[in-house]
Amino acid sequence: TAIKDLTTEQAKEEIQTLQDRLTDYGIAYYEKDAPLVEDHVYDEQYARLQALEQAFPQFISQDSPTQNVGGAETKSGLPKVQHPIPMLSLGDVFSLDELQEWEDRTKKSLGFQPKYNLELKIDGLAINLKYEQGKLVQASTRGNGLVGEDVTANVMTIGDVPKTLKEAVTVEVRGEIYMPKASFVQLNEEREAEGQEPFANPRNAAAGSLRQLDANVTKKRNLSAFMYYTAEPDQVGAETQAGLLERFRALGLPTNPDNRVIDKMAEIAPYLKEYTEKRDELPYGIDGVVVKVNDFDSQVDLGNTVKIPRWAIAYKFPPEEAETVVRDIEWTV
Ligand code: NAD
Repeated sequence: TAIKDLTTEQAKEEIQTLQDRLTDYGIAYYEKDAPLVEDHVYDEQYARLQALEQAFPQFISQDSPTQNVGGAETKSGLPKVQHPIPMLSLGDVFSLDELQEWEDRTKKSLGFQPKYNLELKIDGLAINLKYEQGKLVQASTRGNGLVGEDVTANVMTIGDVPKTLKEAVTVEVRGEIYMPKASFVQLNEEREAEGQEPFANPRNAAAGSLRQLDANVTKKRNLSAFMYYTAEPDQVGAETQAGLLERFRALGLPTNPDNRVIDKMAEIAPYLKEYTEKRDELPYGIDGVVVKVNDFDSQVDLGNTVKIPRWAIAYKFPPEEAETVVRDIEWTV
């Protein structure tokens, strides 16, 4: 039913149903690393819930999945870590029109045209790495954004993550832990041979492999990392997102090489086309592109909501199944 045709009572009921269902999906996905439905099914219902809540804001509850960073209380048995600066999610859009609307809002808030840094959206799980005087002292997951899990021993087994930076800086950096596609295929083959349930996708496999009580299990899983964020850019001497990635590279942190700065949103199309085409060839999974206002002062001006930064947006690729269907049709025509 179109939202404008709903009675208040019907809207209330549908909102409650969606909040409950998406919460259950979230528990299976974030806590058990075993999703009940495909991501695009989740995304469609999430978008419907968001639209309903916008039209009937009196029914937004603080527990709604739209008001919380996914992955409430985790149950892996790992020690908890507080995030004084919350680890956030990202808003998402699924079309160029929605990207343009996001840019219009952003420009209006800032009062000028910002540059953007484009990055690939790596299909893994967020990680926070704490370096003291250049030494890695703690690694933690996002959890519910405020409280995550201590995975220091596990991250110490990941070859890509430097234990010592090239400069003795004290900084917390954030990024993504992911499982390369080849490792994912191999892991699922092994699991099936052993009669275990295969992981649904590389992201769940990476999360399940990192959130282990026994770091030796993580070590065998061949995880990798790309870092892309710090809440304290002054600590590394960066004023823009693209500059931060360069500083990260100089410090020896793993970064994805495929970022690009554009002057306005109208210039995004070639990047989207290029990586939609290259997606299958990349050795790791990506599920979209993240657009970030490049200048940190502007990021601070735009700020965050309780769940997402206002200075960034994720453009999500269409689901791979749908792409396959489109390709099949093209082949048969
Ligand atoms: P998200 O994964 O859509 O986006 C936020 C995350 O993107 C960040 O936390 C970060 O870890 C990651 N990221 C990757 N590359 C990045 C980059 N270059 N810059 C910044 N961040 C980057 O959001 P989420 O809140 O973690 O999860 C929501 C998504 O998870 C949904 O859209 C859905 O697809 C999926 N989900 C699926 C189910 C299911 O049942 N299938 C359930 C819950 C969530």
